[in-house]
Amino acid sequence: MTTMYYEKDAKPEILKAKKIAILGYGSQGHAHALNLHESGYDVRVGLRMESSSVEKVEEAGLRVLSIADACAEADVIMILVPDTEQKHTYDNEIAPYLTAGKCLMFAHGFNIRFNRINPPADVDVAMIAPKGPGHLVRRTYLEGGGVPALIAVEQDATGHAHDIALAYADGIGATRAGVLETTFSEETETDLFGEQVVLCGGVTALVQAGYETLVEAGYQPESAYFECLHELKLIVDLMYEEGITGMRYSISDTAEYGDLTRGPRIINEGVKVEMKKILTEIQDGTFADEWIKENEIGRPRYRELREVGKRHPVEKIGIDLRAMMPFVSAGKQKVSETSGGDTD
Ligand code: NAD
Ligand code: MG
Repeated sequence: MTTMYYEKDAKPEILKAKKIAILGYGSQGHAHALNLHESGYDVRVGLRMESSSVEKVEEAGLRVLSIADACAEADVIMILVPDTEQKHTYDNEIAPYLTAGKCLMFAHGFNIRFNRINPPADVDVAMIAPKGPGHLVRRTYLEGGGVPALIAVEQDATGHAHDIALAYADGIGATRAGVLETTFSEETETDLFGEQVVLCGGVTALVQAGYETLVEAGYQPESAYFECLHELKLIVDLMYEEGITGMRYSISDTAEYGDLTRGPRIINEGVKVEMKKILTEIQDGTFADEWIKENEIGRPRYRELREVGKRHPVEKIGIDLRAMMPFVSAGKQKVSETSGGDTD
């Protein structure tokens, strides 16, 4: 049975009485810290003191401490450092201060699901996983809305883990959109599957293959870019607003007939067989082991594949075409100005 929670279900008092530490001030960290603070909670941010974010946190009017000091002080500890760094942070700077009755929180279940972090039995372990990037968690909160989230309790030592987590979700604005009850396993496995097969891996491979097919057949790269990449957003927006049926209502009958008859030839039974294999690799820990090992040896394959991706011709033509459409990326931080997602 599915259970969804909304604002009326949250009991903020239980969390108002507690000290919250937000560890990390990246995509999710800045949004959680600022939203909770503005919702009236007692927030401190834990960072490596050499981090370039220290100044940002202070400018935002929040207290910043070392991760260890923040954990020593807090009753509720939310880990928002990168998943690949969490075990190290936990072992060295969290575990020594994780005394009985505290609540350890996550925004993604990876390290609990794959037994990288094994908290003691006398603490609460809960998750609030926003289903959207941190910058939207912040922006929608400021606009009076929120990003939906998943809630899960792995350990309930105090008997209050669920209430604490739900109040936390309320504080970041998620109960305005809906909070779905789940488990660490379901969240972790569906999240990895979604990003590998549909959202990130599936869609980028589809765009590149479509682009390559048109260009190899002699069509202009510009045509191929508009068709296979630019228009994707317009179609996805329609699906987001009205579902697949609503999207099909907006496209021409010719487009819809082509969609209905050709789509299943592209994403066919063979593709689903591969999807099931990928799901099995997630469930049995094969993917997690591979990713952990890749990190331990300094990410050579990850770096190499990322560079190959950057050199794909659809990237080059995209830079030229988007330069002519400045409104497309108005207000966004340019890829060239970011670290490219590497942990710093
Ligand atoms: P991020 O990379 O944006 O930010 C990480 C923060 O941790 C930064 O402040 C960084 O300076 C700091 N940091 C990096 N390495 C560190 C280390 N070794 N020790 C201490 N601090 C370190 O991370 P994020 O994307 O906000 O992800 C945080 C958590 O939220 C992850 O569990 C992730 O799965 C989850 N999550 C992220 C998103 C998203 O949209 N990005 C969505 C849902 C859940
Ligand atoms: Mg995800």
